[in-house]
Amino acid sequence: MSAAPAVPQFRVAVVGAGPAGFYLAERLLARADVEVDLFDRLPAPYGLVRYGVAPDHEKIRNVTRVFDRAAANPRFRFLGNVEIGRHVTLADLRQWYDQVAFTTGAQTDRRMGIPGEDLGGSHTATEFVAWYNGHPDYHGRTFDLSAERVVVVGVGNVAVDVARILCRTPEELATTDIADHALAALRQSRVREVVMLGRRGPAQAAFTNAEVKELGELPAADVRVMPAELAIDPLSGAAIDAGDDAATRKKIEILEGFARRPAAGKARLLTIRFLVSPVELIDDGAGRVRSVRVARNRLEAAPDGTLRAVPTGGQEDIPAGLVFRSVGYRGVAIAGVPFDERSGTVPNRGGRVVDPGTEAPLAGLYVAGWIKRGPSGVIGTNKPDAGETADAMLADLTAGAGGRAAAAALVRERVGALQRECVDWTDWLRIQALEVERGRAAGRPRVKCVSVAELLGALGAG
Ligand code: NAP
Repeated sequence: MSAAPAVPQFRVAVVGAGPAGFYLAERLLARADVEVDLFDRLPAPYGLVRYGVAPDHEKIRNVTRVFDRAAANPRFRFLGNVEIGRHVTLADLRQWYDQVAFTTGAQTDRRMGIPGEDLGGSHTATEFVAWYNGHPDYHGRTFDLSAERVVVVGVGNVAVDVARILCRTPEELATTDIADHALAALRQSRVREVVMLGRRGPAQAAFTNAEVKELGELPAADVRVMPAELAIDPLSGAAIDAGDDAATRKKIEILEGFARRPAAGKARLLTIRFLVSPVELIDDGAGRVRSVRVARNRLEAAPDGTLRAVPTGGQEDIPAGLVFRSVGYRGVAIAGVPFDERSGTVPNRGGRVVDPGTEAPLAGLYVAGWIKRGPSGVIGTNKPDAGETADAMLADLTAGAGGRAAAAALVRERVGALQRECVDWTDWLRIQALEVERGRAAGRPRVKCVSVAELLGALGAG
């Protein structure tokens, strides 16, 4: 008599089908006795890879090939269009699965906390990013691109993405997978100048070198940096020397190159400012932003050793009809899971969710990605991050800490019933094929379905 085939013994739910969710699933599936169900509230997978990565950075999206390989594993299931807390509760998941991991990212924005922040014409950068990337929650949004000058607050990579998209011509964008509604709106854009605001100096700018270098290569926009704002203060100089920080030296070199460069008379101008903090958005009298009042700063050593911006007393107003606040993402609390309001993350140790009072692990609950460590790093950073969580999960499975291995038949029945109402991986591949097909005719990587109705419509489901 031949031995029965190995039956997977453990079932894991991963909530959030972005990079952290896929890297986690991939790592868990490496063990032959684990099955992974990956949930997402949207019908389409890939999270920030689909809805965050800028459309003119198509190569970065190639990472989905890695995710697709994980999805091809017979022990993997995608359950898209299922919202935890709405269609299914955490209690359901805890009943059905041995372990539940949240990889829900950082779904909202930090606030600046200044007067006028919510005036008309002032938006978070993430709204704009989600809109131009065809995120279903944002397809009805409009942005008034009739302003000639736009201020982007912050000098991180998201601010760079927003500034770059505003400086690209419709012809450049038309070869990308930018959402059709955004392409149509950007064709009518009257934006001529984009001003990015860094509250600290060039040495502290959060953007990475490849990203800032690209700003100097825009075909239709000159880039400008004020030489006076590039001067490295003694504290920053000492910090660079002490850390032997080659990347920061290179970043300053790139910016100095911009400062020396004569304007080429391109149609648009991108100005990168340093040592200025917005202190108020000024109302035009009709509830819309007219200008951004900024305080000039100098740097001072904070007790924790970092350099912080303190106002010198000088101020100026920068006229602008549109403002994008790009001052960082923030995690959103998950019902039934502890949350640290200060950091916007779930308290955890190495991916094991812990009770914030006792620091004791909460059996069977895990996190990976931005909801675990905060909104930092590039997509690839999620691989080791998820690896750490996966190791903890697998160790706990072995030790039996996940508790009740639910009866496989019951789980199959319950999740199977749910699956009929949601988008599975085969469905997704059909949607994807349609998007790619639509793109082919236009010389674009894909033409995205930009609403839930359109995504489901691609399946003939209405
Ligand atoms: P980020 O890198 O944390 O940058 C946030 C920026 O906002 C910083 O310049 C910060 O300045 C500034 N800021 C924060 N509070 C402010 C305030 N009250 N007033 C003025 N400025 C303020 O965040 P992000 O740009 O949202 O990016 C998130 C992560 O995604 C990053 O790790 C980023 O590298 C990554 N990402 C990567 C790419 C890519 O690789 N192409 C693209 C997009 C995003 P301080 O430093 O002074 O706090």
